[in-house]
Amino acid sequence: MSTHAELSGTPILDGSIAVDDPATGAIIGHVPDMAHEVPTLVARAKSAQAAWAALGVKGRADVIASWRRWLVANRKELAASTVRETGTIYEEALINEVYLTAAGMSFWEKRAEAMLGDERVPARNPFVLGRKLIVRQRPLGVVGVIAPWNFPILLGVGDTIPALMAGNTVVIKPSELTPLTTRMVADGFRAAGGPEDVFICATGDGRAGAALVDHVDMIMFTGSTATGRRVAARAGERLIPCSLELGGKDPMIVCADADLDRAASGAVQWGLTRSGQVCMSVERIYVEAPAYEPFLAKLTERVEALRQGAPGDAGSTDIGAMTMPKQMEIVAAHVADAREKGARVLTGGAALSGPGRFFAPTVIADADHSMDCMRDETFGPTLPVMKVSGTDEAIGLANDTTYGLSASVWTKDLAKGEALARRIHAGTAAVNDANIMFAAREVPFGGARESGVGARHGVGGIRKYCESQTIMVTRLGLKRDISWLPANRRVTRLFDRVLSRIYGR
Ligand code: NDP
Repeated sequence: MSTHAELSGTPILDGSIAVDDPATGAIIGHVPDMAHEVPTLVARAKSAQAAWAALGVKGRADVIASWRRWLVANRKELAASTVRETGTIYEEALINEVYLTAAGMSFWEKRAEAMLGDERVPARNPFVLGRKLIVRQRPLGVVGVIAPWNFPILLGVGDTIPALMAGNTVVIKPSELTPLTTRMVADGFRAAGGPEDVFICATGDGRAGAALVDHVDMIMFTGSTATGRRVAARAGERLIPCSLELGGKDPMIVCADADLDRAASGAVQWGLTRSGQVCMSVERIYVEAPAYEPFLAKLTERVEALRQGAPGDAGSTDIGAMTMPKQMEIVAAHVADAREKGARVLTGGAALSGPGRFFAPTVIADADHSMDCMRDETFGPTLPVMKVSGTDEAIGLANDTTYGLSASVWTKDLAKGEALARRIHAGTAAVNDANIMFAAREVPFGGARESGVGARHGVGGIRKYCESQTIMVTRLGLKRDISWLPANRRVTRLFDRVLSRIYGR
């Protein structure tokens, strides 16, 4: 297995991983390869877990609130660090990484107690009538979070918060491409009063990730479908729960009656943010025939107006660099394949000359499903557009994929939009909007089919970090229940009659 460091030409030397700035190629830091320390780190987190759980939800919420204030106080440094190691623009780092993570902290601080509290459930079956039934949630122990390189804070640290609020301790393994900001946030946890060993950052490459799966009590993984399968297989062997957020090939359907200005601006925003390196990016666009040419014109005009370059201060550029070196080859191959098969590249279509890893935002017209750009995850700044005869064809093509993370439908007819959204096989679907639904933490966000198992957010987004325990309390009264041994013919006849009267009707 080639590691990212090897692929980027920055091999691990003397147990240290070099991290580069995608916009310049300059080495901006080193982190230790801690793969061999993972068992010890997990053991430390295990020792710290009982005291952390004993703080109770309110005590833990106080620590998270203090950490949130630290995050906001250090927002500029954190956003700048994210810019440096991912190549994204400052605004995007501030809003998507710091703002949305702080909002997530606030959400779990306020809502965790209600979601984790005991549930009293009425007993209805005659065999348990009158018994007290309680379902309680208790932490699993040590949760391992394996984070991707595209959103080190939002997706990596973000998953840590409900796991901690549920009373677990966490060991996080950031991507070897983007470990610096995660390390800062982990230091921030302690600076904000977080107890020692409750949140540990273990830097390293895929081997550190694999070691984590070998030792923790639950694994939360975000990344590729291929690695997700390996993680799930190992979790299956160990019989530990895992939650996976994997790749996507998210379709956007533009109906003939759509507001084409909003749809074109939406495609630019949700297809090109972070150079398209977002799991729920708009990856392919289907446009009903009457709207096809006007939509293409509006889309191309907007994409051509974007500024691209090394990210600087706020407002200095629109599109930054590609975080992962390998992505440059994948994006170029998808564009070349589309060209060969008859698509038109209306703007962009090539990498910029160095330094740094930049691929020009690209509009591909006349795409179809023979092309890789419509079937395989591109994870790049490309917007392939295909003309369709109607919404039935669009839905058929939208579902013609093994993925099912997210989707969007654009129309002025909201009822039609909702009906179409229901026909798409994806974990989330938006009408006249797209990725921003990630911000709605009240509702589950997760992938269908090969896009994932389990979900973030909502009640399930915190209960997945718990095991539920059901407690039944029987008041003392009868010396024995009538169904207990020894067997009795009269009682058996009674149950026989009740069975046929109640369930045999
Ligand atoms: P990976 O799935 O390989 O990486 C995701 C995380 O898993 C990283 O922290 C990685 O560490 C770690 N990892 C790698 N190998 C193992 C392993 N055997 N066991 C446990 N953890 C492991 O994705 P890539 O970064 O290689 O990206 C490949 C493709 O995945 C992209 O082209 C994109 O299509 C998709 N992707 C999807 C993301 C999403 O948000 N759903 C995010 C990132 C990528 P390390 O980085 O140090 O190798």
